[in-house]
Amino acid sequence: MDNGFGMFRALLGYKLEDRGKRLVTVGRLFPSSQLCHECGYRFSGTKDLSVREWTCPLCGRTHDRDVNAARNIRDEGMRLALSA
Ligand SMILES: [Zn+2]
Repeated sequence: MDNGFGMFRALLGYKLEDRGKRLVTVGRLFPSSQLCHECGYRFSGTKDLSVREWTCPLCGRTHDRDVNAARNIRDEGMRLALSA
């Protein structure tokens, strides 16, 4: 991990703690860009970083790579926060 980002993350954690909140981090290997946010199907075609948009072969939903990944990260963070 880049030291600058590590510092940013540590400071963010302290700031949140000051406000009675906590930082939840999603595992590095969580396949956020591979999972269809709609049905959960794992599509390995997005391992190619040049794929910016894709259609789920299972449910047919078309995803913007980054928006889909952001939704999956949000949901995984909520799941982790609620299970801790
Ligand atoms: Zn799907």
